[in-house]
Amino acid sequence: MSAPQIPKTQKAVVFETNGGPLEYKDIPVPTPKPNELLIHVKYSGVCHTDLHAWKGDWPLATKLPLVGGHEGAGVVVGLGSNVQGWKIGDYAGIKWLNGSCMNCEQCQHTNESNCAEADLSGYTHDGSFQEYATADAVQAARIAPGTDLAEAAPILCAGITVYKALKTANLSAGEWVAISGAAGGLGSLAIQYAKAMGYRVVAIDGGDEKAVFAKSLGAEVFIDFTKSKDIVADVKAATNGGAHGVINVSVSEKAMDQSVEYVRSCGTVVLVGLPAGAKISAPVFDAVVRSVSIRGSYVGNRADSAEALDFFSRGLIKCPIKIVGLSELPSIYDLMQQGKILGRYVVDTSK
Ligand code: NAD
Ligand code: ZN
Repeated sequence: MSAPQIPKTQKAVVFETNGGPLEYKDIPVPTPKPNELLIHVKYSGVCHTDLHAWKGDWPLATKLPLVGGHEGAGVVVGLGSNVQGWKIGDYAGIKWLNGSCMNCEQCQHTNESNCAEADLSGYTHDGSFQEYATADAVQAARIAPGTDLAEAAPILCAGITVYKALKTANLSAGEWVAISGAAGGLGSLAIQYAKAMGYRVVAIDGGDEKAVFAKSLGAEVFIDFTKSKDIVADVKAATNGGAHGVINVSVSEKAMDQSVEYVRSCGTVVLVGLPAGAKISAPVFDAVVRSVSIRGSYVGNRADSAEALDFFSRGLIKCPIKIVGLSELPSIYDLMQQGKILGRYVVDTSK
């Protein structure tokens, strides 16, 4: 393939301060380091993490100024001098984990996302809310030729994360998993991965539209947190004694505390959502005598990523996306803040 024409400047959404203006403007196209790919990002999913990063919600500083975004799907247009195993024209994905040291104890054990030196797309490394972005060639996701890049984009964070969280719940086929925050970006994929893995799904979210949506994706039961008088009792009743596992993808501390109560004895509560300043509290006596596990789960490693993409390529996961131009990012953040999004918004970087 002939070398693609790479412009000197490009459109991006940039902020200078956390919570400050989100400016759609021209910035230079980055130059890949020796270990990096230059990717022409065609589409990027908009994850709630991008909203947390812009607001500065977490006790970890972002790079400033910052280009957010970490669900970027595109085409390789440049190769750093040390890159092997990639060629111009390959489809590649930009994940939250842009790169890690590959030498520390966690990296040696393939827990690359837990590396203390992890470089994070759209957080410590300019991400996918721009037309051209760089990614470490070791961590960049391989996307099969011919894939619909808009549909694939949400797999690169939401898909990988919920697939790994479901593995962390350590369930057997036929067991119940409760998904709290089921109609959002992560939740809508979690329902489908759970079904594909053989589990029965109780979806928890708010509103009639979200109920219809979650059921259309495969949830057997929907519990509305805005209407239920007792979520714990409702989940226990629906699952004949409590969910064997819970995937917490809501941005709600209260929902997480409730999940420790409705999980079945010897079951696993998986924490994924990251509400600002949240703490989990559980009655110790109950957690001990019911032998409940509470586990954090943070994106996934390269194998989790490849497996999550493989479920998608086999047609088992359909990303419920709405595509809008990159310049409309601020209005997506508004809707997200109000909890009004069904599934995932994907931005087209050319608009
Ligand atoms: P989203 O805004 O698309 O979805 C959140 C959903 O939670 C919404 O549908 C909302 O209605 C629902 N919700 C709100 N309060 C609820 C409650 N009390 N009970 C049940 N549902 C409730 O967000 P998203 O993009 O899916 O991200 C969710 C969270 O996961 C964010 O905090 C994000 O930062 C985090 N995240 C974590 C990881 C990780 O690796 N651990 C990876 C990606 C995202
Ligand atoms: Zn994300």
